[in-house]
Amino acid sequence: MPTTTNKDYYATLGVKKTATATEIRKAFRKLARRYHPDVNPGDKRAEEKFKEISEANDVISDEKKRKIYDQVGFYSDQIDPAQAAAYARQGGAGRGTPVDFGGFDFTGFQSGPGQHPGQQAGAGSQSWGNFKDIFSGIFSGAQQPQQPRGPQPGTDLEYQATADFWTAIRGGQARLQVHRQEACPTCHGQAHTGGLTQCPECNGTGQVTQMGGRMKFNINCPQCNGTGHTTNACHTCHGEGVVSSTEPIEFRIKAGTRDGQRIRLQGKGNAGLNGGPAGDLYLIVRTGTHPVFTREGDDIHLTVPVTVPEASLGAKVDVPTIDVRAQLKIPPGTQSGQKLRMRGRGVENAQHPGQRGDQIVTVEVVVPHLNDERSREIMRELAKLNAQDPRAALFEKL
Ligand SMILES: [Zn+2]
Ligand SMILES: [Zn+2]
Repeated sequence: MPTTTNKDYYATLGVKKTATATEIRKAFRKLARRYHPDVNPGDKRAEEKFKEISEANDVISDEKKRKIYDQVGFYSDQIDPAQAAAYARQGGAGRGTPVDFGGFDFTGFQSGPGQHPGQQAGAGSQSWGNFKDIFSGIFSGAQQPQQPRGPQPGTDLEYQATADFWTAIRGGQARLQVHRQEACPTCHGQAHTGGLTQCPECNGTGQVTQMGGRMKFNINCPQCNGTGHTTNACHTCHGEGVVSSTEPIEFRIKAGTRDGQRIRLQGKGNAGLNGGPAGDLYLIVRTGTHPVFTREGDDIHLTVPVTVPEASLGAKVDVPTIDVRAQLKIPPGTQSGQKLRMRGRGVENAQHPGQRGDQIVTVEVVVPHLNDERSREIMRELAKLNAQDPRAALFEKL
């Protein structure tokens, strides 16, 4: 176990114990100019020296830190000034007893980051910072009590769920395998079995005493994190409180559900910890397609072939809709590609029951193959009677 003895910061800076703040500042600046890593690239010894003077300056240039240092013989942020004063009254550092750091692990104290020679300005202060971190780590227990784990809500889950074309329109039940964390059946999410046991390390107080030489520091018990009790981790969930499971989830698809719609299943997400509520399960519905109908929101689109006489003379034709066979009126002179709207023949809106979208029919005129002379004769006669040039408009616009 490494031990360290007290450092004489005054000697390091070459000043008297009675030095004024100005004298200390001057002495530090003079030494810093001489030993700064930028001035001595690659010089390990200068770097060490610079760290020492930075450390010394950090403490004795600060009035409060200096007082504690004078009283105790070393400085730490964790030392209470009143404690230090009491220590000094008992004889303290003045009696020349070195404070023994034996028992504390100072590993890493001298080898912080920023020790790459000649690379950085302020290497000393970086290492000093590192030193303080380690110091805090030893004595910080009382300052940062670790909270015992309280209830934590479970996380939400998101899954994609497919609903076929008709289920999305008419509604229905759907199933999905969902992989989720559920409360452990053995410990019911408590993560431990049996009651709480008094922590043997601190006898249930949550605090232990660490000696710093002749100084005592109360810190949180490392065994139980300051809670004063220990628990037996549950064997089923290994102390997690939750177990993974894959289970089929059955859910209702509302009539009129659209592609991309989210369904929230409250409490079907991951289980919470220590009695926290479960998260929610969100299902993103992906709706299936149909060979005849195409759905766009609440509207249904489809293409309907019509004959030349139907398109030309007008007709009433039967067309499929999503619920019944319905009649569609083709007005005389309907062109191929023309769209005809059938109001209220679309999908019922999921939010507003009774309100339906439209069916939009794209007319596709089918040209007949004429296989007999009589038909061809009629067609020629028709052409003669209707001498139209459908391309005339094209040329007019040139
Ligand atoms: Zn368990
Ligand atoms: Zn304990």
